[in-house]
Parts: sequence; structure tokens; C-alpha cells
Amino acid sequence: MLGKLKLATASLAGCFGCHMSFLDIDERILELVDVVEFDRTPLTDIKTVGECDVGLIEGGVANEENVEVLRDFRRHCKVLVALGACAVNGGIPAMRNQFELEDCLRESYVDGIGVANPGIPNDPEIPLLLNKVHPIHEVVKIDYFLPGCPPSADTFWTFLTEL
Ligand code: SF4
Repeated sequence: MLGKLKLATASLAGCFGCHMSFLDIDERILELVDVVEFDRTPLTDIKTVGECDVGLIEGGVANEENVEVLRDFRRHCKVLVALGACAVNGGIPAMRNQFELEDCLRESYVDGIGVANPGIPNDPEIPLLLNKVHPIHEVVKIDYFLPGCPPSADTFWTFLTEL
């Protein structure tokens, strides 16, 4: 008998909506765990990715930590999948690309309506933002694209069961 498919997932600059849609496969997840073993994913809370068959990436690439996580997934996953509009084309996070990063930060933390205690955070623990948000295929090679905001639960189901 073949071993279980090893599956890892990550959310970069996304809203976790794609992951929530994945969970909308509902009780079919019981069928899935018969053939799939979860590695790093918000569902398991495992923080490092091991050798995997499939990696699903939600969200665009907005900061240096996103770049590291994405490259790590590419190194460890045989098949890497862009999950949802933000991963496929930058989506909602990439709406900031029409402005300078400095202007976005000033609007969010200094000049915006309702800002209390103005000041742009600069704690070294906070990952540095990239000047622009990138779709993930601009950073690493991607094997498959599942568009949608989010892709439907049936899309997840069909894709994973076909694999
Ligand atoms: Fe959220 Fe839509 Fe982006 Fe998925 S594609 S992370 S649901 S905004």
C-alpha cells in the first residue's frame, strides 16, 4: 500500500480565508486524513516544514519573512501550489502597490483617521516590509494555481483527491 501524501500549508500575506474555505470540505476531512498526513500548517501548529509531497501557499509576498517561508516550502515540497487570488496575483494586499510604502505606513500609523499614539513601528522582531507585494510565482517556481477569493471547498477537494 502507498504511504500517505504529506501536505503542508502556509498563509503569507493573506487573511486565512483560503484556509477557512479548505475547512469547508467539512466531514470529507475524515476521508482526507485516510490518505493525507498534515505537516506544517496552521491546522497542526507545526512551525517548520519537513519533506512534503504538496505545499499549499495562501497570500502574497509582502515582507522578508514571507520570502523565507516561501523559499523553505519550495525546498521541501515536490509540488507547490498558489492558493487563492492573493498568492496568484497579489490580491488584496497588493492594492498597496499603487502607493509608496512610506505613504502607506504614514497613513496607517501617523496620519490616518483615529490613529492614537502615532509612530511607525520599528521593532527588530517585526519582519521588514518589501516595497511592493508580489504574487508568489515571482519569488519561486509554482507548479499549480488555484484561483478564487477564496477557492471553493469543492475546488480543494477535487484538486487534492485527483492528486
Ligand atoms: Fe483571503 Fe481571498 Fe486572499 Fe484567500 S485570496 S487570502 S480568501 S483575500
